[in-house]
Amino acid sequence: MASEVLFTPFESTGKIDALNRRVSMMMHRVGFFDSLSAGDSVAVKVHPGEMNNITYLRPSLVRSVADQLLRRGAVPFVTETTTLYCRERFTPEELVSTAAWNGFTGETMGCPFVVADSGPDVVVNARGRRLDNVHVAAEIAGADALVVLTHLTGHPWTAGLAGSIKQLGMGCVGRQTKADIHLSTSITIDADLCNACGKCADVCKSEAVLLGEESAALTERCVRCGVCIGSCPKGAISYSHDFDWFARALAEAAAGVLSRFEPGRAVFVNFLTDITRCCDCEDFSGNPVFPDIGVVVSPDPVASDQASADLVNASTPLPGRADHPEVAGSTDKILAMTGIEWWKQLEHAESLGLGTRDYTLGKVKS
Ligand code: SF4
Ligand code: SF4
Repeated sequence: MASEVLFTPFESTGKIDALNRRVSMMMHRVGFFDSLSAGDSVAVKVHPGEMNNITYLRPSLVRSVADQLLRRGAVPFVTETTTLYCRERFTPEELVSTAAWNGFTGETMGCPFVVADSGPDVVVNARGRRLDNVHVAAEIAGADALVVLTHLTGHPWTAGLAGSIKQLGMGCVGRQTKADIHLSTSITIDADLCNACGKCADVCKSEAVLLGEESAALTERCVRCGVCIGSCPKGAISYSHDFDWFARALAEAAAGVLSRFEPGRAVFVNFLTDITRCCDCEDFSGNPVFPDIGVVVSPDPVASDQASADLVNASTPLPGRADHPEVAGSTDKILAMTGIEWWKQLEHAESLGLGTRDYTLGKVKS
């Protein structure tokens, strides 16, 4: 059976039809607000953006959702997990600091901003064969309901598409499961090219580089995050990736997270705005490749991502994207932009029962 997906275009002509109001209305229409009881704790999962990224989701849109939850007597908190990679959201303290820099605090959200994985993970059984189990971040696992607010982007390293499934499978899990999913990646140092300059060791917060007299080597502490690759002046660090394995593991992790919530008690909101080739984990922002399209809402994360991808692929890329001229002429523009078969994560998620790629699109006019 097809899943219900609602879509509203980005443009807004004033107070009455403001985008945030339409998002709330769509969350109501898909039944999410009615599923809540007074006093329910609601995790509002966001990606608050890496330090120096400037195309992440606008904090005011998140505040608007938190306010709607408060008005209905729920107890929301805005939340995110620490990262596997070593930039500025690596530790809980860094995450809080970067989130605040980017505009996400208790004061701006009207409810607490919480580090989701600061307590012990809740371990659940995995469905599928790539992961032994799924470590769900404690604060998310303990919530009564879940709102996933996603700034949809491309993801040219591993996933192809960073949408609701990526937010669930990577963004809502603890570091152990993040590392397990990244077993799909191998990082190597070419000892013939390396001159032991130590720059990779300087950027690696996992302390995974062993510096020798003539070359560096990676230790078991390496979590395959890839941050050191760009630091190497000799091009000595390379990586290879099993995309299908990653997509399957990501879907299994997403299923583990969703298993914590009763049907109807999770909703997925994809913002198709500032759609960049790379995701908000990058410490830079490229030019958006597509015009702002709108917002997709669904209780089904698979349908939400499929509808979002279809809308992106049907749109006309912005002019002047000379660095990706191949995108405009492509039927699958996300594939052209990232080089990755992005739909595989959705296929695997569907096979695990997370939802369906078959959907009906209801339009909410601006
Ligand atoms: S050595 Fe491993 S853990 Fe450290 S930055 Fe490089 S890929 Fe990441
Ligand atoms: S940055 Fe490159 S050249 Fe320098 S130690 Fe690391 S691998 Fe070797």
